[in-house]
Amino acid sequence: MSVAFISVVEKKEKRSFCEIIMIPQCHTIPTPYIVGPVHCYSTELDGELTLFDCGPPTAECRRFLTENVDLSRLKNLILTHGHLEHWGQALWLAEQGVTVYMPQADHLKIVRREERRRGIAALMAEVGFPQSWLKQFDKAYLEESIYADFPPGYHIVEKKLPEHFGLKVHACPGHSVSDLVYEGDGWIVSGDTLLDGIFQSPVLDLEPGKDKRFLNYRACCRSIVELASLQGNTVLPGHRSGHGVKKMLLSYVNTALSRAKRFRPWQGENLMTVLDVMLEGRIKGPFHIYLKVSELLFLTDFLTEPELLRSALKEAGLYNDVARHFEEVFG
Ligand SMILES: [Zn+2]
Repeated sequence: MSVAFISVVEKKEKRSFCEIIMIPQCHTIPTPYIVGPVHCYSTELDGELTLFDCGPPTAECRRFLTENVDLSRLKNLILTHGHLEHWGQALWLAEQGVTVYMPQADHLKIVRREERRRGIAALMAEVGFPQSWLKQFDKAYLEESIYADFPPGYHIVEKKLPEHFGLKVHACPGHSVSDLVYEGDGWIVSGDTLLDGIFQSPVLDLEPGKDKRFLNYRACCRSIVELASLQGNTVLPGHRSGHGVKKMLLSYVNTALSRAKRFRPWQGENLMTVLDVMLEGRIKGPFHIYLKVSELLFLTDFLTEPELLRSALKEAGLYNDVARHFEEVFG
């Protein structure tokens, strides 16, 4: 397996100028989803070949992994979060003897699958999704096309990730209920928590293990503080390119502020009507609507409790960088 070496000029607050670090190898795999290609990463952890995320459930992805990862030596698969393009080959790899580590919140989704199906349908109905779309959602859920096959015998990261891997695990939910960030020696595998030029949709879901809506916005505020503590690490994101943690966080916050400003006049209106007007017919099917409604719920929560984000940004040492924008939106 080849390992990339990079200089750590950008990490001068932590390391000396000439020191080098080893970062995991990036594998970029096409997906059939609107998000585009996904990155997985392979590295040796205490001598064990390990893969972070494994791509979508497609034949093309299996071919890619067969050709680009030494599957005969692959020991571990560690997942950042349970979205299809990140864990679509977990069962296939487990069948080849790979040990799978899954976030606790995804474990709860699996064991409470039926409750989750009913609960999300109820949330969607409450928001105003038309019956025909609810039926499509239910059909997709039943046919498992929105849910990958999961491997029996997986381990839960928070309980069983071996210490000798030398990883620190940071819970950074918000995009999903389960996002985990893995910190190695000078790098972080950040899943979908930090994305360049994409506002990672805070996806509508149930609180893990419960029957109420997961409050993405509150979770994001806590996660911003956690992610800010990882500045100085090389970011290995789930999609697109990685930049510094601070730059990526600020870009996320600035986008949230701009969208909150745009959405503000519509606050309190029926979300389906708002979407119709805001997207002006640029809707690409029920799943696209689902993501957009998720975002509008996030923005509603943000507009209701802006102080939560303001104090999270202050705690993270980032507020000064967005103070003007924040004042412009909230005064
Ligand atoms: Zn993703």
